[in-house]
Amino acid sequence: MNTTQKDVDKLLIDQQKPIPWDTVLKKIQQKSGDLAFQTWFSRLTLHAVVGKIVTIAAPNTFILNFVEKNHAIILKNALYEATGQNFETTFIVTDNAEDQKIIQTIAHEIKTVRCAPPKSAPQLNQRYSFENFVIGSNNQFAYTSSLAVAEAPGRKNFNPLIIYGNTGLGKTHLLQAIGNFALSEETAERVLYAPAIKFVEDFMKAIVHKTKSPVEFHRRYRDIDILLIDDIQFLAGKPETQNQFYQVFEELTARKKQIIISSDRHPDEIKEMNVRLLNRFSGGLLVDIQPPNFETKIAILKKKAEQDGLSLPPDVLETIATCPTENVRELDGLLIKIMAYSNFTGHEISVDLIRQVLGETVTSMRNPVTTSDILTTVALEFGISRNKLCALSRAREVAIPRHVCMYFCKKFTNGSLATIGVTFNRNHATVLHAIRKCNELLASDALFKEKVERIEKMLASR
Ligand code: ADP
Ligand code: MG
Repeated sequence: MNTTQKDVDKLLIDQQKPIPWDTVLKKIQQKSGDLAFQTWFSRLTLHAVVGKIVTIAAPNTFILNFVEKNHAIILKNALYEATGQNFETTFIVTDNAEDQKIIQTIAHEIKTVRCAPPKSAPQLNQRYSFENFVIGSNNQFAYTSSLAVAEAPGRKNFNPLIIYGNTGLGKTHLLQAIGNFALSEETAERVLYAPAIKFVEDFMKAIVHKTKSPVEFHRRYRDIDILLIDDIQFLAGKPETQNQFYQVFEELTARKKQIIISSDRHPDEIKEMNVRLLNRFSGGLLVDIQPPNFETKIAILKKKAEQDGLSLPPDVLETIATCPTENVRELDGLLIKIMAYSNFTGHEISVDLIRQVLGETVTSMRNPVTTSDILTTVALEFGISRNKLCALSRAREVAIPRHVCMYFCKKFTNGSLATIGVTFNRNHATVLHAIRKCNELLASDALFKEKVERIEKMLASR
């Protein structure tokens, strides 16, 4: 038979004179008053008594911390009065699910505060500004083009501006930044931001179901200087709406009004899209956003934390940035979760706290990738020997795979740049250079990117 800690605790309780917990609670209630009692004590239960140590169970960490910090004396005294003996107290939390719920609530509040109602255009969130956008090699071109368009909307070669890239990489942020900038710097008077799905909805109401005025629909999408349409891929397979959008497009561009469009993929890869529309798209400027590299992830986290009034030390930022996500929204979500947890427990944000909070995320990579795994896999994919990867040779056929190894070491192992350097007989600056080089190649060389993705899949599926 398996004996659990609970069984042991119970045995020890049984062997001792039982503590009259109800009496203890009554004593506390007399001392603390009804309100404090209801809030902090009524849900405490007796978990175990071992020798002179009483373990008390609290329903969540919030109550636990508060009672432990502020009311331990009341508890001790009540225990003494009820039993005639002196006990030490320790605490545990009974239900982690309750903790998670409270953390979610706090996280939700942080998000709500962040998305405070905008002052200028009703569809724009002022938090999405160019100043708040962190520039990295992954998004530099998209950023510069967006700024150029915001400064001088309607220029021929920049119309439309199309920004495409995976979800969570900053497309909506840039679109809204253009709108915010144009309004505040007065490069345009009337700006409309609309997710494509909203355009579909408006079209259906005005033209198909006729529950809204078609005149209003036309005015809404035509009486403007800048039209920002987010997630155009939602128009796929909706020929009527596409026709309508084509007309809006033609009218606005004829009047030199600026159109900016985002898409989660290259427009040519959107299936069932009107060819005329695709032709128009190719007449403008097409820019992509790639996932951020490690340094950019750190810079983004730093910026986000600063916006919430927090200055986080480098080791903390690095620990969050090593989490296996390339999606900035998810990265930000992790930061919010950590902030909520820190608020909730009253503990400062530290590497230990992050490990605690992100335990699941980090340990979900059940088989941590080791440097040795990386060397073997990269050597295999590039068809060279493992030894060459760590040798001093600077020949290109070895240097590139070595860069890839360093890139993956940074991504998958906890090693600092200096530690990674040791494996390859190089210093930290060389490792940094290698990672940058690798990111550049990822952005510019499709074949190289395919190779690296293949290696990553192999590493992930070991
Ligand atoms: P997308 O529209 O591409 O799915 P979003 O623009 O909604 O992504 O970005 C998701 C979140 O990440 C937003 O909170 C956004 O502010 C943030 N974000 C993305 N890229 C950056 C960046 N380079 N700098 C600062 N924040 C960023
Ligand atoms: Mg978006």
